[in-house]
Amino acid sequence: MKNSTKLFRQAKKYIPGGVNSPVRAFSSVGKTPFFIKEAKGQYLTDEDNNKYIDFIGSWGAQILGHSDKRIIKEVTRVIHSGITYGAPCKNEVMLAKEITKIYPSIEKVRMVNSGTEATMSAIRLARGFTKKDRVIKFNGCYHGHGDSFLIKAGSGASTFGTPNSLGVTKANAKDTISLPYNDIKQVQKAIKSKNIACIIIEPIAGNMNFIRANKVFLKKLRILCNQNNIILIFDEVMTGFRVAKGGAQSLCGVKPDLTTLGKVLGGGLPVGAFGGRKDIMDNLAPLGGVYQAGTLSGNPLAMAAGLKTLEIISKPKYFKELSKKTEYFISKINEVAQKYQADISADSQGGMFGIYFTKKEVTNYNDILNTNENNFISFFQYMLKNGIFFAPSMFEAGFISSSHTKKDIDYTVKIFEKWLKEIYLSIN
Ligand SMILES: *Cc1c(COP(=O)(O)O)cnc(C)c1O
Repeated sequence: MKNSTKLFRQAKKYIPGGVNSPVRAFSSVGKTPFFIKEAKGQYLTDEDNNKYIDFIGSWGAQILGHSDKRIIKEVTRVIHSGITYGAPCKNEVMLAKEITKIYPSIEKVRMVNSGTEATMSAIRLARGFTKKDRVIKFNGCYHGHGDSFLIKAGSGASTFGTPNSLGVTKANAKDTISLPYNDIKQVQKAIKSKNIACIIIEPIAGNMNFIRANKVFLKKLRILCNQNNIILIFDEVMTGFRVAKGGAQSLCGVKPDLTTLGKVLGGGLPVGAFGGRKDIMDNLAPLGGVYQAGTLSGNPLAMAAGLKTLEIISKPKYFKELSKKTEYFISKINEVAQKYQADISADSQGGMFGIYFTKKEVTNYNDILNTNENNFISFFQYMLKNGIFFAPSMFEAGFISSSHTKKDIDYTVKIFEKWLKEIYLSIN
């Protein structure tokens, strides 16, 4: 860790906390981060030449694995025709068309540069369309770092155990209602206050570990939204092209009015998107009165990486194979945990999974708060020492790419079993 330690010391001098996104600081697992020199396939190599099996994949974005040759080839090809134009290009249209094909709920879509931008813009649009102000979100869901969402936030803030952010105004907080996930009664109560423009939800949550929304809950949200002129937004920045090609909405049978996308969509380049019903989307400038813009939005490079990624994951069997691999991993984790009667369980969908330091069912943020953090930290550190990189927070989901092999998974399960035998049994 010599070189990483040195780099981190330097980083802290020039970058707040030494990182450009808080979870990277490793503070909730009592360690300092390693700095990555190279990423290939399922592996990361740090500045001290330690190699890790990566179960984060740039927080889900790298579904094909790192530095996929086909993406590199495509990006290299198009870069010779320009990096950004600030003017329309063909690939924007092709990618928009592809998104609408994969997501039947999306009739029109606009590109942005991050998930945060997508969710921020989606709620502005919902407010502009309904002429109402308030937003309902759910505790533990993460929708990026926009002011309207940093109210009892999940991932970003809860890594540090502080639910709110300084700098978010009281006026902002007043317009956001944050409710327990999977609890329809609370939603019914909250919408009595009128003035609700939209309900935004991760239909499978990936920022309070991995938690499924109950299908009946989602169906009831849909009905409540219809009855009360409320826009239903599915934030699929993480789950889109990840739990299934068509996202969580293709699995739950509920059609949102608007959807936000990101991560996988950019093939590793910074891309976000929001889209949905034509009659709502047409309220955006230049057609309508809801302003939204972006200098680098829809740039040819990012669009090409996205298009190529969608082409590859659209191949027959792609998702079947990815899901099978993840399910194999999860079944092994559950099997070994059971063998040692450990208070640990796991679940997955597509190329996304959760490992819980409890055997109780987890249905909301509080359930995750009540899992065993000491066991998680011990697990994280032991795995890392053995060259396996899981998210450095128990509030994050895990990701498998199509580059991961059965050998990687079997090795990971073997080390997990070693941890159970050598450490877990002695501290519990
Ligand atoms: C990652 C994420 C975001 C934010 O995306 P950024 O690109 O980090 O701004 C928003 N919503 C969900 C569900 C996410 O997982």
